[in-house]
Amino acid sequence: MSELRSALDDLAAIDLEELSSDAVLDLVGELTVTANRVAAALTSAVRAADRREAYRHDGALSMKAWLRGSCRMAPEEATATVSTGRRLEQLPETAAAFADGAISVAHARIITKAMTPKRLAKAAEAGIDLGETDGILAALARATAPKETARGVKAWVAGVDPDGTLDDAADVRRSLTLATGLDGRVFVRGELDPAGGEYVHAALGALMNGDRPAGDVRSHAERQGDALVALARGALDGGSLPDVRGERPHVRVTIDWFALCAERAALGVSGGSLGWAGPINPETARRLACDASVVRIITGPDGLPLDVGRAQRTSSAAIRRAIEIRDEHCVFAGCDAPPEWCDVHHVIHWAHGGPTSCGNGALLCERHHTSCHEGGFTIRRDSGTGRWHTYRPGGTEVLSRAGP
Ligand SMILES: [Zn+2]
Ligand SMILES: [Zn+2]
Repeated sequence: MSELRSALDDLAAIDLEELSSDAVLDLVGELTVTANRVAAALTSAVRAADRREAYRHDGALSMKAWLRGSCRMAPEEATATVSTGRRLEQLPETAAAFADGAISVAHARIITKAMTPKRLAKAAEAGIDLGETDGILAALARATAPKETARGVKAWVAGVDPDGTLDDAADVRRSLTLATGLDGRVFVRGELDPAGGEYVHAALGALMNGDRPAGDVRSHAERQGDALVALARGALDGGSLPDVRGERPHVRVTIDWFALCAERAALGVSGGSLGWAGPINPETARRLACDASVVRIITGPDGLPLDVGRAQRTSSAAIRRAIEIRDEHCVFAGCDAPPEWCDVHHVIHWAHGGPTSCGNGALLCERHHTSCHEGGFTIRRDSGTGRWHTYRPGGTEVLSRAGP
């Protein structure tokens, strides 16, 4: 590399005005080949780092992310470099022409972009030999400008994949559907373009891996699901979302007053419903209503609203901070989920007169908040020792397995 660098220094020292026209043209030709070779070497090096996941060494989540962060590469350039390197592995003739400097990065990308896994599978099905295709396209690229090469590639695509388009990377179609099942569960299905998927993956990855509590036994898919919900809750709480019809976006829960006040809701009693997802069981309604950032609508026996509780983000913020400082993490026995994963649970539900105060509040992660409402567990703080105790639905205490 140092020799390359000193050669470049020599090059920079040449007085171009002194050169004859013939010599300056020679130089331009020479440099074009050199630039192609350097681009090929860069693509190979990126591929080598990508294959062995070297980016993890610097804490990056992907090779593209590393190129953007550490080399300040434009996102589309990073994507193209990584993808070209990957696909060139199956195209030795094109790779060799690129490495020789005989074809440019533009030629290489026109060919590799067309070689999507789907098309390669179709070509194999149709009995088209990839080695032969590679040889023909590499020879075409060596002899023509990118525009003509693209024409040849297009002809190959038309033969293999008549419905396809040449430019897959420019295909930014995205779709996402959310559908509620019979039991109120929500099914998520969707498809993203590579760049869009990268954004979603990076955001979920940060939420999944940042501050992961010790002994977390959730599967990858479960953590990813939790991260998606945390992403939405963070956006709603952070107030960064646009207003909808002049109102801050929020989650709205409608609860029947009797279901809310019952010590434990009777089976079969309709509990409440969410603005979009529909009916939910009474315990879930009580849990959601426990959180001050949710708008709650309480209905009487006739189904008409008795009271609409506004989301009280600001007044409860100071109380929440005080509770975070006192509890430090989820207070459920054996859990150390950090405050940003936690709701402030009302130990005595506000429907029973429990105030929104430091004394009546406890940090509970979403899972343990669910254990307390839907699962029937309870938590109590010993006012003498200041320690939290967790009790099973039957009343026996969940004792810590380690420590005092
Ligand atoms: Zn609660
Ligand atoms: Zn917890």
